[in-house]
Amino acid sequence: MDTEECIFCKIVTGSIPAEKIYEDDNVIAFLDIAPISDGHTLVIPKRHFNKFHECPSELTSKIFSKLGVIAQAVSDAMKCDGYNVLCNNGIAAGQLVEHVHFHIIPRNESDGIFNSWPSYSYPEGKAGKIAELIRKKM
Ligand code: AMP
Ligand code: ZN
Repeated sequence: MDTEECIFCKIVTGSIPAEKIYEDDNVIAFLDIAPISDGHTLVIPKRHFNKFHECPSELTSKIFSKLGVIAQAVSDAMKCDGYNVLCNNGIAAGQLVEHVHFHIIPRNESDGIFNSWPSYSYPEGKAGKIAELIRKKM
């Protein structure tokens, strides 16, 4: 995606408005325009990268150094019982905006958000094979 067309790049430059809650040289955080709970916040690097693994490690460390601080502020302000930190990567994973971003989603008990997690068990021997496939890529 051309960064000139990227909605989050436009928020970074200020050409479209956002309810900003934090900004430094590398990172910006603002309220999600279509929240799934009050205080739903997005934390993004100012530089445009599509997926998380495409960000250089110096940048991911800068994002992570602020993610917890921002999550605590959101959590304290919203007086929530907990929160999710979520990073969707790729259309298959639900990524709609192709500029890497972390959702901080305030949660309360019995709020009904993500209340089903479609987990299952590996059949005998499959976990070892999958782990080996991944290890070979490390
Ligand atoms: P994702 O599905 O992980 O790509 O999430 C993209 C998020 O960006 C969605 O939750 C949208 O509501 C949010 N979003 C899209 N446009 C804006 C905008 N202009 N300001 C704030 N949040 C936005
Ligand atoms: Zn962008």
